[in-house]
Amino acid sequence: MTYPPIRKEPGSFALQPNMPDYQECRSSFTWDSVRSELDGLAGGNGLNIAHEAVDRHARGPLRQKTAIRWLGKNGELLDLTYGDLMEQSSRFANILSSLQTARGDRVFCLAGRVPELYIAALGTLKNRSVFCPLFSAFGPEPICQRMVRGDGQILVTTERQYLKKIAPLVERIPSLRYILLTDAKDHRSEGVLSLSRLMADASSDFTILPTSSDEMAILHFTSGTTGMPKGAVHVHNAVLTHYLTGKYVLDFHRDDIFWCTADPGWVTGTSYGIISPLAHGVTSIVDEADFDAERWYRILEEQKVTIWYTAPTAIRMLMRAPDELRRRFDLSRLRLVHSVGEPLNPEAVIWGERVLGLPIHDNWWQTETGGIMIANYPSEEIRPGSMGRPLPGIEAAIVRRGENDGVEIIETANEEGELALRPGWPSMFREYIHDEERYRKCFVGGWYITGDLAKRDRDGYFWFVGRADDIIKTAGHMVGPFEVESALMEHPSVAEAGVIGKPEAVIGELVKAFVVLKEGIPPSEELRLELIGFGRTRLGSAVAPKEIAFVDNLPKTRSGKIMRRLLKARELGLPEGDTSTMEGGGSR
Ligand code: AMP
Repeated sequence: MTYPPIRKEPGSFALQPNMPDYQECRSSFTWDSVRSELDGLAGGNGLNIAHEAVDRHARGPLRQKTAIRWLGKNGELLDLTYGDLMEQSSRFANILSSLQTARGDRVFCLAGRVPELYIAALGTLKNRSVFCPLFSAFGPEPICQRMVRGDGQILVTTERQYLKKIAPLVERIPSLRYILLTDAKDHRSEGVLSLSRLMADASSDFTILPTSSDEMAILHFTSGTTGMPKGAVHVHNAVLTHYLTGKYVLDFHRDDIFWCTADPGWVTGTSYGIISPLAHGVTSIVDEADFDAERWYRILEEQKVTIWYTAPTAIRMLMRAPDELRRRFDLSRLRLVHSVGEPLNPEAVIWGERVLGLPIHDNWWQTETGGIMIANYPSEEIRPGSMGRPLPGIEAAIVRRGENDGVEIIETANEEGELALRPGWPSMFREYIHDEERYRKCFVGGWYITGDLAKRDRDGYFWFVGRADDIIKTAGHMVGPFEVESALMEHPSVAEAGVIGKPEAVIGELVKAFVVLKEGIPPSEELRLELIGFGRTRLGSAVAPKEIAFVDNLPKTRSGKIMRRLLKARELGLPEGDTSTMEGGGSR
């Protein structure tokens, strides 16, 4: 079903949007004008994200303003002002330099949404080291692969994570020099230190050294269909995109209270859970706890949240809660709701209007783009089901691969093709770490090919169609089937595994594995449960398969690649499509 556009009357805004007219803004836009709204390091010493996000405000009238309000899962509340954040991140930067951590060295964080994570992220950037977040629900395998690939030297984590996951891995990560425990009272050993002790002894003065806008600042891992996770490298210049999208998409005004529900283990939680709101000097809410409908409504009310950035899975979970629950809370402060990460059902946009009193603004981007690229803007009409239009400064197109490594732009409205962006925006990823070939392959005929299939309508709105590859999006998180298959194959009973995303109403897709057992091992319910447990222990709950089915063999191409597309079609009872490349000539 198609829903009519949601039009906004110019007089209906609680606050005049920062971008009153999309076309006008797009036609006069320059990135230089964005740069001129930022500060830069004193003396023309370059651009550093942490300076733009924190120090410049802490040294000005916003010093006493709450930068981050942290809500602990057990009811604790901690306010960090811009001044506090500057001092604490400076302490952390001093700790790094005292541990001989240099420019470009990788500092990994494996922790839930605790204040130390935010301090470590900003302190790392100040020290010109590289912030590399890991999701706290990762199991040992995803952690190890990412840390090895990213040459992790420092790891900031909690005692629990350390004991459960890291201690047994240390030998496998040769680059790792120090582990800093956020909640340990005392140092454990020469290499395993108490962060609070180090913080207490460190100086709160730190001068950021000259930083090139093109030097590596953040390393975010994302999943691929083949091979191991890809480490997308972002540079300090990315703050231009974070700032611009904060201004035009999220529509930050100085008195806003912003809540981004994403975990910094994923790119949204870093770009918009840390950098963008701080770069605008607004107050950000950080909630340590996981989703809970009542808790979330209470936070919106009690914290007087004005702008909320969340994800379709969470919205669908809220849609399942009774409307009566919502009515118990006063959400009158809320003026904008945004969503990202997966397709947002048009019904959800309408539900937002009906139940929250506000339509939901969908936007699109990915780890590689570093920031929002396509969006529904506060001042513009929303087309429910559409991701919106490209940001000023961003050229997007629907393309088809042509002859000789070229691409052809599809001009016809509503025709499906690959979503592509013209390279060169400030937060564009600059490499996949240690994988030049894979990086190069993303650029074809002068375009960055995103891996998504989409359509563009007559008025330039983009509509998501699906992934062009086998990557699974589960509860908003990318999961690479290869990573899951490899882990399952380490089980002594497994000969082979093929992994797909099976559509699911709330979390979008769930990870399902088809397993071929070794000769002579009979399938059983017991073994199925054992494999589910094995997957969880190895991979962690965010990545592990939730369903496992035993099969006699997996469909493969003649070159031996698992045809996950076919596994999926069979699972869903859909036509099998072109099976000409299949082993055995395509017959089953
Ligand atoms: P990640 O790199 O984990 O942020 O995932 C990026 C991918 O998530 C994109 O390439 C899309 O496949 C999907 N995605 C992100 N935002 C949207 C959206 N608004 N609508 C549909 N898919 C989305």
